[in-house]
Parts: sequence; structure tokens; C-alpha cells
Amino acid sequence: MGLKTFRNQPHHSATREDGTISDPDCLWQADREVWKNDQPATAFLAEKLPIVSVPASDVVSATTDGRRIYVNPYWSASLDGATRRFTQAHLIWHCVAGHFCPPIVQDSHRWHLACDHEVNVLLLMLGFVLPPQTVLFPACIGKSLHAVYAWLADYPLLEEESSLDTPPWQATGIGHDEDETTALAAASLSQHWQRQACEVVHSYLDTPYLRPLMASWMTNRWSE
Ligand SMILES: [Zn+2]
Repeated sequence: MGLKTFRNQPHHSATREDGTISDPDCLWQADREVWKNDQPATAFLAEKLPIVSVPASDVVSATTDGRRIYVNPYWSASLDGATRRFTQAHLIWHCVAGHFCPPIVQDSHRWHLACDHEVNVLLLMLGFVLPPQTVLFPACIGKSLHAVYAWLADYPLLEEESSLDTPPWQATGIGHDEDETTALAAASLSQHWQRQACEVVHSYLDTPYLRPLMASWMTNRWSE
């Protein structure tokens, strides 16, 4: 599969002088270091997700299965810093929201857009810079995930909307063992993220890093 996991390596540019692409982990890892100061809740959550570089044939952009973040290095090198940081934060909060579970609805494109909207509203509340192409439906702010999915059924530009990342549930099977894909493993992964969400609420509630609205989303999301 040609996978490689990276951690704690020194920062360097994504594109080398000879034009070849270096591994994306350094920049993505460096972004996490910066978050320790200005986005500590996201930095804490990121610690549970190793960054893995994958061939373009496996992932067009980047994705997560709730265990790792998978990045196509060529795609990563094409991003500006704000979009790269946004994408990583987007994937981390997909995990917190449990979006790695396969959708139980018919239209997976529409479901990913609804999931994207949910995490992007959170990123907005956390103060992240949203790139121009960010999936966000202002009329749906405050709606539940399923309500957004239903609302999108009548959205005229549905086919034109596209996500930066590859749907999280499509990451299942990339670079991990068979026993990580069982229903039991998926349930324990959900519990793992529920515990992470609780810990973040416990650590950052009543700080500028986690507004009450965010905390109430996290508490409600896992009690659904
Ligand atoms: Zn997404």
C-alpha cells in the first residue's frame, strides 16, 4: 500500500527545489504545533490522529477513518496554508462528530455536504479561517445534521457543491487491519471520540477556546 506514518519531524517546504513533492506530514504537523497556542482544543484532538501519506490512487485529496488522517502529498502541496489548516481541522472535527460511520441515507454526496456543513459551522465558531470554497449553508445554521440533509433535497445547486476532502467513510480499508473494520471496532471508535469530546468540554469550557455554543453542540451530539 506504500503507506508511511510520520510524527514529530522537522518542518520543511512541501515542494523541493527539484520540483518533486515532499511528504506533507511536516507542514501538517507544524500546523498542530501552532494550534497549541491558538486552537488548543483542536491540537489536543489532533494528537489522537497520526498523519499518513498515501498514493494518489488511494485518496484524491485527504480523508480520515477516525483513526488516522490520510493525505495525498501532491494535493497537499497545491494548497495555501489557510486551506491546508482548515482541511486538517475539518477532518479532526469530522471525527469528533462521528462522521466516519457509513451513512444510513441514500445519497452519500448530499450526506457528506450535510456533514461538511455541520463541522464547518463548528470551525467558524472556533475562529478558523474558512476558504472561499467552504461548504456552508447559512439558512441551515442551527439545524441538525439530518435536517440539513433533508433541506439539501431541494437545494438547486446540489450537484455543483463539492467538498475539499474525500468522504470519511470511504477511508475504511485504507492502511489498517481487518479487525479495525468490524462493527465492534466502529462502536469502540465512536466511544473513543465521545470520550475525547467530553475531555475537551471539561478542559476548555469557560475559556475563549470553547464557546458555550460549541460545548452545547458537543454535549448534545453525543447524546443523540
Ligand atoms: Zn468533509
